[in-house]
Amino acid sequence: MNNNDTFSIFWFRRDLRLFDNSALFHALTAGMKVFPIFIFDKNILDKLNADDKRVNFIFQAIENLNFLLKPHKSAIQLYYGNPQEIFEQILSKYKVKTVFANHDYEPYAIGRDLQIERLLKLRGVGFQTYKDQIVFEKSEITKVSGEPYTIFTPYNHKWLEKLNQDNSCLKTWNSEDYLNNFYEVEDKCTLQLSDIGFSEIKDVYQQFQPNIPILENYGQTRDFPALDSTSRAGIHLRFGMVSVRQLVALALQTNAVWLNELIWREFFMQILFHFPNVENHPFKPKYQFINWINNEKDFEAWSKGMTGYPLVDAGMRELNETGFMHNRVRMVTASFLIKHLLVNWQWGEAYFASKLLDFDLSANNGNWQWAAGTGCDAAPYFRIFNPTTQAEKFDHENIYIKKWVPEFNTSKYCKPIVEHSFARKRCLEAYKSAL
Ligand SMILES: Cc1cc2nc3c(=O)[nH]c(=O)nc-3n(C[C@H](O)[C@H](O)[C@H](O)COP(=O)(O)OP(=O)(O)OC[C@H]3O[C@@H](n4cnc5c(N)ncnc54)[C@H](O)[C@@H]3O)c2cc1C
Repeated sequence: MNNNDTFSIFWFRRDLRLFDNSALFHALTAGMKVFPIFIFDKNILDKLNADDKRVNFIFQAIENLNFLLKPHKSAIQLYYGNPQEIFEQILSKYKVKTVFANHDYEPYAIGRDLQIERLLKLRGVGFQTYKDQIVFEKSEITKVSGEPYTIFTPYNHKWLEKLNQDNSCLKTWNSEDYLNNFYEVEDKCTLQLSDIGFSEIKDVYQQFQPNIPILENYGQTRDFPALDSTSRAGIHLRFGMVSVRQLVALALQTNAVWLNELIWREFFMQILFHFPNVENHPFKPKYQFINWINNEKDFEAWSKGMTGYPLVDAGMRELNETGFMHNRVRMVTASFLIKHLLVNWQWGEAYFASKLLDFDLSANNGNWQWAAGTGCDAAPYFRIFNPTTQAEKFDHENIYIKKWVPEFNTSKYCKPIVEHSFARKRCLEAYKSAL
């Protein structure tokens, strides 16, 4: 690499793909060679355990991209540290014209990007960012008054209406046709996972393959955990190995119920964008006065899948073992922790955040607040899931339960840690007295 060359940078973040990548398309077609980078951000990684599978997933996904970049004699350069310091290092070494990246809407990422933009501006370097991980971002879907929607149904109607009026937002950015415009660099990966404090776990990354029959039947089968009949697109959406535009186009052809879920994703993203306060507070302020019991033993029993409620236990054990939990079971386990055990929803939110491979701040926070009744468009607090009837309804033959709780129906299985009608009454009283 020649230090005297001037080039642009493409900064990969939540968009780990070469195809249909909007900022990458703009970078590769701007008339200058493009130097691709990825920064393992110390501020984020320092909070994770050494055996975090998501870091392995990202690392392996980048190795896969570098394999695809080989014929183009390029490779993503890996850095580890504080993004601001990394950019200072890069700018002190090379002549950079513009940095390209896709928008990120989480509070930390917004602050980070503002800092980077300021630094680049001071050095006379451009910072061009684009919409990519979402179909409608920021204030593209609002009420007539310009205020953000806080209720899903009208948001959903407006979202669909806007798409029907003009589907140019699903336009494909054929970045994959311009890969020869990457700067030629050797694929000499000097950074290993152990250098950044993580242990190597093999074969975590798998490419996403949409299963069309599953999508076509999604509306009828999605609620039954034993059927494994959801798309498993979550982690790929989180790190951008799939294009959401292509998934929405697929959903339009296959299943409206599945499309609805992709719109829920966007709904919670715009909630976090407009109300960043939700990251650490209930959306509805008066819910902060609930008198939680926060019993640590109860929390531990829940997290280990030892509550004596088989559907709850199966879900938590699935999560602990695989990093995934079925959506119906996520709702039941979350409700159980909050309402049956009266443990602050933020404890559960943090536990899911540490375990879920598809963890996404906006979706996780939005759904925990939904389950707690504290959220913008939440279930009313007095609607309390009965974990036993939920199991009868959605895992009638106990197939899912037996898979994760092999001692179910034997003397070895633990007794319920709390009695359902007692817990229900206690919860209603706690909520009532706070509101
Ligand atoms: C307490 C709780 C916590 C959750 N935490 C997360 C999380 O951290 N990350 C996450 O992506 N989803 C989260 N969800 C939503 C949902 O459970 C998962 O998106 C889904 O189970 C992932 O499986 P899938 O990829 O097969 O999804 P599918 O059912 O096939 O849905 C397709 C995609 O739509 C989006 N989606 C589906 N349901 C929701 C929803 N309720 N809210 C927002 N987006 C949705 C996801 O991106 C998902 O991958 C949570 C739900 C609950 C109840």
